[in-house]
Amino acid sequence: MTDSITIALSKGRILEETLPLLAEAGIELIDDIKKSRKLVFPTSDPNVRVLILRATDVPTYVQYGGADLGVTGKDVLMEHGGEGLYEPLDLNIARCRLMTAGPVGETPPTGRIRVATKFVNMARRYYAAQGRQADFIKLYGAMELAPILGLADEIVDIVDTGNTLKANGLEARELIDHISTRLVVNRASMKMKHQQINHIIEKMAAAVDRRR
Ligand code: AMP
Repeated sequence: MTDSITIALSKGRILEETLPLLAEAGIELIDDIKKSRKLVFPTSDPNVRVLILRATDVPTYVQYGGADLGVTGKDVLMEHGGEGLYEPLDLNIARCRLMTAGPVGETPPTGRIRVATKFVNMARRYYAAQGRQADFIKLYGAMELAPILGLADEIVDIVDTGNTLKANGLEARELIDHISTRLVVNRASMKMKHQQINHIIEKMAAAVDRRR
C-alpha cells in the first residue's frame, strides 16, 4: 500500500532553493505558488502534498504529525528544540551564521548585559556556556535597531553578507553557530512510512550531492 505523504516547506528565501531539490526527487508543484493563496498544494506525485508555512511553524507541524517531512533552517530547529524529529539531511542551502553583534568599535560592557534577539533559547545557551551574565529581550524582527535605541548592548542575529549589520552601524562579534537548511522527519512517520520517506531522503541527498 502506498501511504500519503505531507511535506511542510518554509515560505520565503528557502522555498525557491528547496523546490528544485524536491523536483529532483520527483515531486513538483502543479500550481504556481506565487499566484495562489492556498496553503496546501498537490504535487506531480499523487501521494505527496506540500504545505507552505512560516519557517518557525515547520518543526511544530512535523513534531505533531501534521506533516511527515519538513524543510526549515537549523536556526529554527535549534530554537524549537527538535523534540519528536529526526534530522537526516543537510540540504546545504541558505547558509548563514548565527552571531552576536554590537555597535562598531564598542567593546561590550562588563558585567550583566542586555541582549535583544529572536533566538532567545539559543542566545541563553550561548551566553551561559561563555559564563557571561545576560538578560534577553525577545524581538520578532529589526533586531538591529535595539542597540541603536538603547534597548540592548548586543544582539544575536543571522548574518549572511554582514550588509544589514553594517547599514545599521553594527559589527559581528562572535560566531555562535553555522546555519543551513535541514530536512526533518516525524519520528512515527519514519517508522510507519519508512520506504516512501527513505526514497525521498535518498533522492534529495543525491540532488544535494550533485550541487557540491
Ligand atoms: P546580510 O545583510 O546578508 O548579512 O543578511 C542578514 C539578514 O538577512 C538577517 O537579518 C536575516 O534576517 C536575513 N537572512 C540572511 N540569510 C538568512 C538565512 N539563511 N535564513 C534566514 N534569514 C536570513
